[in-house]
Amino acid sequence: MNVESKIKTLTEQLNHYAHAYYTLDNPIVEDAEYDRLYRELVALETENPNLVRADSPTHRTGDVVLSGFKKYTHDYQLYSLQDAFSKEELEAFDTRVRKEIPDPEYICELKIDGLSLSLVYVNGVLETAATRGDGSIGEDITEQVKRIKDVPLVLSEPIDIVVRGEAYLPRRNFQKLNLEREEEGLPSFANPRNAAAGTLRQLDTKVVAKRGLATFLYQEASPATNDTQEEVLEYFEKLGLVVNDQRAFATDITEIWNFIEKVAALRDALPYDIDGVVIKVNQLAQQDVLGFTVKFPKWAIAYKFPAELAETEILSVDWTV
Ligand code: NAD
Repeated sequence: MNVESKIKTLTEQLNHYAHAYYTLDNPIVEDAEYDRLYRELVALETENPNLVRADSPTHRTGDVVLSGFKKYTHDYQLYSLQDAFSKEELEAFDTRVRKEIPDPEYICELKIDGLSLSLVYVNGVLETAATRGDGSIGEDITEQVKRIKDVPLVLSEPIDIVVRGEAYLPRRNFQKLNLEREEEGLPSFANPRNAAAGTLRQLDTKVVAKRGLATFLYQEASPATNDTQEEVLEYFEKLGLVVNDQRAFATDITEIWNFIEKVAALRDALPYDIDGVVIKVNQLAQQDVLGFTVKFPKWAIAYKFPAELAETEILSVDWTV
C-alpha cells in the first residue's frame, strides 16, 4: 500500500473508532490499539505533511454530538491533551517548555479516566452542564448532571464561572451496576469510563441518580482570578467543588517521574480509575505564554500508563436498554 492509501485507511479507521467511543459510548477496540494506530498516523503525517487529510483525527478533538441532545456551544474551547508514553517524551516536553519558560514549576495531577464536563455557574447557580463534544459544541446534559450528588447546584460565592472537570463512576458503583445488569440478563459495561459516558446520556435522569456518578474539577475555563493552578484548585474547594487531593509540585523530570512511580504503585488501591498523570505548568501567566496548538495546550502533557496486561474484552452495549 502506498503512503497516501495508508494515511487514508488509518484516518478512516480511527474516525470510525472515535465515533464508536465518543458518540456511541461503545468502543470497538482497546485504547492501546487506538493509541498505536493514532501514533502511526501522526508519524506518517509528520513525514508527509502534504498528504494530511482534512478529516484527520489529529486535528480534531472528540467527535460530533448525538442528534438526540440539545447542542451547547462552549464559550471557551475544550482541548484534549498531548500524550506521552515514556520518560523520553516527557523530557522532550520539558525541553519545549524551557525554550519559553527557563525555570518552570510543574504541578502533577491524576488523569481521571472519565469524561470531560463543563459546568457554567451564573451568579453562583449551576446554569448549564455540557459534554466536551468536538471541543466547540457539546451536548447539554444539565438535567443529568444535577443528579450527580457531589456537583453543587449553588456555589459558596455568587460568581460567574465556567469550570472543567471529569465525571466518573467510582469502581464500587461500576461493579454494583454490572452485577445488577448480569442479574437482569443485560450486557455488562466494558469499563467505568464507558458506563459513566453512557449514564450521562440517559434521558431518564432517575437512572443517573441511581448509578452514583461523581466528579473531580480541575480547570477554570473562564478568565482565571488566581495566579496558579494550585490556587485554582484551592479556590474550587472553597466554592464547594470536588477537587482531587493527590497532586504534587515538580521542578524537573526526576521529580515528575517520582510522582508517576508513586501514583503507579497506588493506582490499584484507588476507588476510581485513572489512566495516567497530567503534568501542567503551574503559573497561569506562563501557561498564557506557551499557548495552544489546534488541539492541545502546550503547557500540559498527559503521561499514560502502559496498557494493562489482562485487558477486559470490549463488549457491545445497547444504550437503549
Ligand atoms: P485523553 O483522554 O487522552 O486526555 C484529555 C482528557 O483528559 C481531557 O479532555 C480531560 O477530560 C481528561 N483529564 C482527566 N484528568 C485530567 C486532569 N487532571 N487535568 C486535565 N485533564 C484531565 O484525550 P481524549 O481526547 O479525551 O481521548 C483520547 C484518548 O481516548 C485516546 O488516547 C484513546 O486512549 C481514547 N480513545 C479510544 C478509542 C477506542 O476506540 N478505544 C477511540 C477514541 C479515543
